[in-house]
Amino acid sequence: MQKELRKLPSVDKLLQEKAIQALAEAHSHELAVEAARDALESARQAILEGSPCPPVSQLATMTVTNLNRRLQPTLRPVINATGVIIHTNLGRAPLSKETRAAMEKAARGYSNLEYDLEAGKRGSRYVHAEELLRQLTEAEAALVVNNNAGAVLLMLTALAHGREAIISRSQLIEIGGGFRIPDVMRQSGTRLVEVGTTNRTHRRDYEEAIGEETALLLRAHHSNFRIVGFTHEVPLVELVELGHKYTLPVIDDLGSGTLLDTADYGLAHEPTIQESIAAGASLVSCSGDKLLGGPQAGIILGQNDLMAQLRGHPLTRALRVDKTTLAGLQATLVHYLEGRAPEKVPVWRMMAMSVEAIEERAQAWASLLAEAGKVSVVDGRSTVGGGSLPGETLPTKLVAIQVPSPDDLARRLRLGQPAVVGRIEGNRFLLDPRTVMPEQEGTLLERVKLALI
Ligand SMILES: *Cc1c(COP(=O)(O)O)cnc(C)c1O
Repeated sequence: MQKELRKLPSVDKLLQEKAIQALAEAHSHELAVEAARDALESARQAILEGSPCPPVSQLATMTVTNLNRRLQPTLRPVINATGVIIHTNLGRAPLSKETRAAMEKAARGYSNLEYDLEAGKRGSRYVHAEELLRQLTEAEAALVVNNNAGAVLLMLTALAHGREAIISRSQLIEIGGGFRIPDVMRQSGTRLVEVGTTNRTHRRDYEEAIGEETALLLRAHHSNFRIVGFTHEVPLVELVELGHKYTLPVIDDLGSGTLLDTADYGLAHEPTIQESIAAGASLVSCSGDKLLGGPQAGIILGQNDLMAQLRGHPLTRALRVDKTTLAGLQATLVHYLEGRAPEKVPVWRMMAMSVEAIEERAQAWASLLAEAGKVSVVDGRSTVGGGSLPGETLPTKLVAIQVPSPDDLARRLRLGQPAVVGRIEGNRFLLDPRTVMPEQEGTLLERVKLALI
């Protein structure tokens, strides 16, 4: 054992290996030294447990692996073959080419983020997407914050802190990531007044609950669940009527928020932002990265006077949106303004994809993978995801790979680079072409082929 230990090279000696030198030069000498020390330490441990001293070439490989592991960002690209279009765990909406370019441009240098070029003095970051949002929705005013959870928290805090907000029991939702409407209300310092029952809430339920302490009426989109059967909720227009009668603002948390009608894509109708504004909601909020298909953001639309209260609230500063987000959001909104969102915005392009087009891709993949295993093209369903359209699916064609252990295959695909995430059903691993970007196809097929060997 002592003899084996003495065979271990010094750190300096190991660093002379070509592969390590190249990495040290490309990245950092200090990190290479640490990686070499780690490799020598694990070899020493192995020797103490009875293994022979590994050859220098193997120690060099270990060092290179260590170094690469340290340098690899934990956030990496994933090929989404799940068929879930707005997959929150996989980063929600992929962005259009123009959106990405706008974000890169904003990141590259300085901008007039908070500078009024006309006046030559301090301006506001909140003017940037406002005009576009107003044009698209006909809302009086708009405000963009970090995300929709923040938007809801801000609206409640600024308008109802220390007072009551009335909401239907059927809308006390929890969405992924622990966002629960009752918790957000508590956090905002608003007292929650729940009315109606789980399945049915009527106008009179709201009316009976309205009192001195009432600050607003809140409606929340059901997001990721659906109530069916003997149900009733008060339509937004009626809530607005009530709001007028008692001079109370009506706040509508739309969740996903869409500018286009999902019914045109063979799906149920998801309430649009324009409909909520037209129905007279005082403030409407939604996400930037769900059905809107842009970067992560919380968008608030509605009345000037209320928006002024939000703008002046200290929480707005804490939720403020980044310049790259604003640039990306503007670029995405321009697609809608030009009427080109269905072909430009990836989430809409994916929703619009025909089964025939998907089948063509699936067949091509299947024939390329055929020699590697038992591969077939089968019928399946894609989902929209992102807390929109619960229970709604789109017909698709899947590439089904039959293997002894689909779990093993899925694990290998997840851990390689770029990571590939698909679905498992029974003894089959499934790939849905709908959510795979065309430019990722080659890489995806290569990874699957290698994983099947
Ligand atoms: C998704 C969602 C939110 C949270 O939006 P984020 O942009 O993820 O913060 C809030 N309310 C509803 C109804 C939602 O569906």
